[in-house]
Amino acid sequence: MMSTLPVLDHWIAGTADPGTSDRTGPVYDPALGEVSKHVRYGSAADVDRAVGVAKAAFDSWGGASIAKRSQVLFGFRELLNQRKDELAAILTSEHGKVLSDAAGEVARGLEVVEFACGMPHLSKGAFSQNVSTDVDVYSVKEPIGVVGIISPFNFPAMVPMWFFPIAIAMGNTVVLKPSEKDPSVANWMAALLKEAGLPDGVFNVVHGDKEAVDALLTHPDVASISFVGSTPIAKYVYETGTAHGKRVQALGGAKNHMLVLPDADLDLVADSAVNAGFGSAGERCMAISVLLAVEPVADELIEKIRDRMGKLVTGDGRGSCDMGPLITREHRDKVAGYLDVAATDGATVVVDGRDGEFDGAANGFWLGPTLIDRVPTTSAVYNDEIFGPVLSVVRVATYAEGVELINSGPYGNGTAIFTNDGGAARRFQREVEVGMVGINVPIPVPVAYHSFGGYKASIFGDAKAYGPQGVEFFTREKAITSRWLDPSHGGINLGFPQNS
Ligand code: NAD
Repeated sequence: MMSTLPVLDHWIAGTADPGTSDRTGPVYDPALGEVSKHVRYGSAADVDRAVGVAKAAFDSWGGASIAKRSQVLFGFRELLNQRKDELAAILTSEHGKVLSDAAGEVARGLEVVEFACGMPHLSKGAFSQNVSTDVDVYSVKEPIGVVGIISPFNFPAMVPMWFFPIAIAMGNTVVLKPSEKDPSVANWMAALLKEAGLPDGVFNVVHGDKEAVDALLTHPDVASISFVGSTPIAKYVYETGTAHGKRVQALGGAKNHMLVLPDADLDLVADSAVNAGFGSAGERCMAISVLLAVEPVADELIEKIRDRMGKLVTGDGRGSCDMGPLITREHRDKVAGYLDVAATDGATVVVDGRDGEFDGAANGFWLGPTLIDRVPTTSAVYNDEIFGPVLSVVRVATYAEGVELINSGPYGNGTAIFTNDGGAARRFQREVEVGMVGINVPIPVPVAYHSFGGYKASIFGDAKAYGPQGVEFFTREKAITSRWLDPSHGGINLGFPQNS
């Protein structure tokens, strides 16, 4: 029987485009547990067409005046600000996160748009007058061409906005391949960019899976790839993209630890652990998933956390809940499976998220907040990125034991220390091998005018997302040495040019 559900098209050359492939995939409303629409899965031919359109648009957009480009960005900022609730509602209907959290995601994306509005300043080069007699040297930042962006399901609006506002501001053109799990916000943002005056072809969206990703990674006319997702795919994207001559920034997975020293304010720690562990159902790359409690505070802290967890409402994000469902049934079951692993490995399940009551449809992909104590560091519960509402407690004897555990893990995305001892915090900041560090701040996502990225298996490539490193990534620098000749400068000299 033919489905009557809507099918989401690609967005190419400023309009919805069905592409050439028959392949589609389901998009769920996770709080209902039902398919709400289907999304097209682009073929290599669809990617080729989008890249061709973006390449053609680059001819004029790459040379558009600073005034024109900043006008479009300011226009986009205004429209997004006016209509952000609409975007948050679409986001919640496909991702599941509660509306206030979706609005927060949009707000953090808007920050990058605002940073990119400063492009007249950001795109300035440098000038050195009279480096040699009558010789000046100056540098200009030029766009790199067609840039590819591949984004994950957990921040379908914010992660693309980490990249495209800066890429567009600097004069590049874009092909975005969003997550196939919550793809609609990408088309909504594309239409809004058009409304803000962005010329057709500058921003394109091709939906799909590995086939579309591979076509982007290998396309000769794609200059760069900005990827965010899980570590194995980030590594693959980095290796494949660079092997095809592209600059690649590929941000991967995480397992973020929060180190609690005995002098910390345990009420503040408990609030922070609950917010950072269970916000967005733990589906954040900056979620806290391991609490390292330096004894003797673990028992008291666990009580405080358990108490707060008892008050959390898990349910449909459109209602007044604290936490929504997980993204798919498959992912929900995988996360819940770690509770069995915990029991087998000798950990203590303090709060079992499978037992909860949920304020939503029976078929929603529900799992309540879960707390596991005494998790062995050999257990998969400790070592895997679970990406769900599961907070593990590991008891350690000293600060040094805690830092050693953090530094011996494969990831290095985010971490936090909670203490009232400034010296200990300062030592932690220096000793910890993690790219983003919070001091009494559990989710230390840098503001838009700094850059976002971790260490080790949390990033491949040497450019972080947005901020100054984003500007560098989306530009290349040309250095010009100029001399306006006077007849006295003539003469033959085959030696290497020297300054005089
Ligand atoms: P994912 O790796 O499954 O997918 C990310 C993107 O890659 C999607 O667009 C997807 O379609 C594509 N993809 C998936 N499998 C592929 C394959 N075999 N070949 C080519 N492309 C493929 O990640 P996800 O589940 O969507 O997102 C969650 C992950 O993203 C978590 O690991 C999380 O930590 C990570 N993440 C990291 C950051 C960060 O800044 N470091 C931010 C957000 C999310």
